[in-house]
Amino acid sequence: MNDCIFCKIINKEIPSDIVYEDEEIIAFKDIAPKAPVHIIVIPKKHIGKITEIEKEDETVIGEIYSAINKIAEEQGIAERGFRVIINCGEDGGQEVNHVHFHLLGGTKLGMKIV
Ligand code: 5GP
Ligand code: ZN
Repeated sequence: MNDCIFCKIINKEIPSDIVYEDEEIIAFKDIAPKAPVHIIVIPKKHIGKITEIEKEDETVIGEIYSAINKIAEEQGIAERGFRVIINCGEDGGQEVNHVHFHLLGGTKLGMKIV
């Protein structure tokens, strides 16, 4: 039994506004956006946090950056720029225990966002 909320989004057990999906990766709009564009990009494989990334995960982690570039282009933020944030663990402010990349843009971002 997997109680991970992002795994439930992957399995379409709970709804989300999906902006990108392929075999290994899914991206959806953050439910509480901190910027005009705030997308969560995740591997479909459940990896709890970045300290749990294994050698075999390196390919998908790299491909996430290609997905981010595609999404940024589609969202119209590629040219002016954007920010990618990964929180890890309690001190890092990670609330959902499934590795995720915050893609933020659409405005000039301040220092502290998520
Ligand atoms: P963290 O603080 O773990 O780095 O970020 C978790 C992010 O997931 C937060 O920005 C939060 O708004 C978002 N989030 C949490 N639950 C859901 C949900 O059920 N759906 C969506 N779309 N986003 C969620
Ligand atoms: Zn998960």
